Amino acid sequence: MTDARLIDGKTFAEKLREKIKRRTADLKATDGLVPGLAAVLVGEDPASQIYVRNKEIQCVEAGMSSVGRRLPANISESELLATIMEFNAEPAVNGILVQLPLPDHIIAKNVIEAIDVTKDVDGFNHLNVGALSSGEEGLIPCTPRGCMLLLEDTLGDLTGMNAVVVGRSNIVGKPIAQLLLAANCTVTIAHSQTQNLPDVCRKADIIIAAVGRPRMIRGNWIKPGATIIDVGINRITDEKGKTRLVGDIHFDEAIKVAGAITPVPGGVGPMTIACLLENTLIACCRQNDVEEE
Ligand code: NDP
Repeated sequence: MTDARLIDGKTFAEKLREKIKRRTADLKATDGLVPGLAAVLVGEDPASQIYVRNKEIQCVEAGMSSVGRRLPANISESELLATIMEFNAEPAVNGILVQLPLPDHIIAKNVIEAIDVTKDVDGFNHLNVGALSSGEEGLIPCTPRGCMLLLEDTLGDLTGMNAVVVGRSNIVGKPIAQLLLAANCTVTIAHSQTQNLPDVCRKADIIIAAVGRPRMIRGNWIKPGATIIDVGINRITDEKGKTRLVGDIHFDEAIKVAGAITPVPGGVGPMTIACLLENTLIACCRQNDVEEE
């Protein structure tokens, strides 16, 4: 059997960002609008700092405006909420993202719910969650949307396929399952209490792995020819003592069995920021009653 086709999220995301950049330029030329993203970072977590910086850089590269707000780790919840209110009221800010995780003394839910639903470009506000599950218009979480774009590009129509989502977090597993359901898949959501996970996975035409456990899903759990989307990002030290990133799928085994597979890095990761830019553009158009395409 030949190796699986690699699903190149890096190239797909570059093309998507180019398309967003062109639409952003049109919007400026025809309507005088510049989509704006406000990124709020609390504390000094090095990974969060890198994520936020990348989001801001790509925002500016797409022709959008970016407002960064760095706040100290000891900021009170009410001060953070005041910052959100300020951005909610600012017409030049179309999208607001608060980088998670937040320090323990702040209840993340309170902050997410404070974001104006039309500016909630992460799609985590309960009104956007409800819109997704009831098929209404809303803002779709970025990583799940990125997974769906890669799947549809790889497989075309997903109708009737058996999809297994491993992981049921609110920000990845559950919204991906909703999107797969909306695309007419038969969806199974697996989690830490699932019995006989290898057998559950073996029935899948599509596996989405969103667990956070390095190389947990083995090659012999995969139906030959299945399409594999690996959301997991895990930092490991390999046999040679080198640190590197791996997914939740055992890639070297899976590539021998699957039909198509995303690598880590270079698969789902780059799609997340591209979809954040897409959401900021969509939010700007909707807030100004302008056509999205
Ligand atoms: P969470 O920790 O919030 O959720 C993990 C899920 O995996 C839970 O539902 C948990 O089940 C399930 N799980 C844990 N152990 C097992 C097991 N042994 N068997 C089956 N299921 C299990 O993680 P996230 O959803 O936030 O993230 C998942 C992964 O995706 C992480 O590696 C994260 O870094 C990555 N990620 C990547 C992004 C990207 O841009 N590519 C963006 C966001 C996340 P239970 O509910 O029962 O505890």
